[in-house]
Amino acid sequence: MRLLILGGTTEASALARALAPRADIAPILSLAGRTANPKPAPIPKRSGGFGGADGMIAYFKAEAIDAVIDATHPFAEQISANAAKACAETHMPLLVFTRPPWPRQPGGHWIEVESLDAAVDALGATPRRVFLTQGRLQLGVFARAPQHEYLVRSIDRPAEIDALPRARLILARGPFTLQDEERLMRDEGIEMLVSKNSGGESTYAKIEAARRLGVRVVIAQRPATPDVETVTHLNDALAWIEAHRPAP
Ligand code: NAP
Repeated sequence: MRLLILGGTTEASALARALAPRADIAPILSLAGRTANPKPAPIPKRSGGFGGADGMIAYFKAEAIDAVIDATHPFAEQISANAAKACAETHMPLLVFTRPPWPRQPGGHWIEVESLDAAVDALGATPRRVFLTQGRLQLGVFARAPQHEYLVRSIDRPAEIDALPRARLILARGPFTLQDEERLMRDEGIEMLVSKNSGGESTYAKIEAARRLGVRVVIAQRPATPDVETVTHLNDALAWIEAHRPAP
């Protein structure tokens, strides 16, 4: 079975690890190619865009793909829309493997916003010390609120950081422990945290640390997703693969 996994997430990595020993499945992990040094993968991988839904369809043909698992990040809207379109047009089996959003916990001070643009407004006019963890993309939107001091954490140096007059960059790759997150936010005197509601365990520690420290969290809600069969557990993804194995 030639299985295309659209990745860049812990879900995709877990699926890759589970499939690596299988002789009956030939998985390919697809990455966007944004991270300069991605973690090594235990299965073959490819990197870079396909060229929209049409490019993905051409890739299905060229690589004789049998099924697709979209295990991309819940905020990676474009690739998921492309996969839904390409698979619908070619009757290709498609499963979304993702994580549920984080629920708000008692005592947590959340300001829920629809977009990162709205997050800028939610920070308010008063200068604050703000921890930006929403990812290096869309950092530039915070340039219109130059009164705040920003702490930015990213795997690679984001080009858009130059647009922020008062920003400090920490280069680091998660996961981060609760202890580390609490210490960082306390030492930096962070008053507000900006995050996407990504869900999942690997980036949750900052949310819990903020709750414990009484730091306000400006949290961007998820974009709408295409209507595609979805699972949130690895075992369910593996069961779906079994059910979609082509007949020998
Ligand atoms: P996006 O806006 O949905 O996608 C933009 C374009 O990048 C797509 O149209 C596609 O190009 C290409 N692309 C994206 N993911 C790809 C993949 N896995 N394999 C091949 N091409 C891909 O995506 P994004 O938000 O920039 O995220 C890029 C990648 O980072 C995703 O794989 C995602 O899982 C991962 N990631 C994203 C976030 C986030 O917050 N957005 C967080 C953590 C990880 P073509 O149209 O040319 O095919």
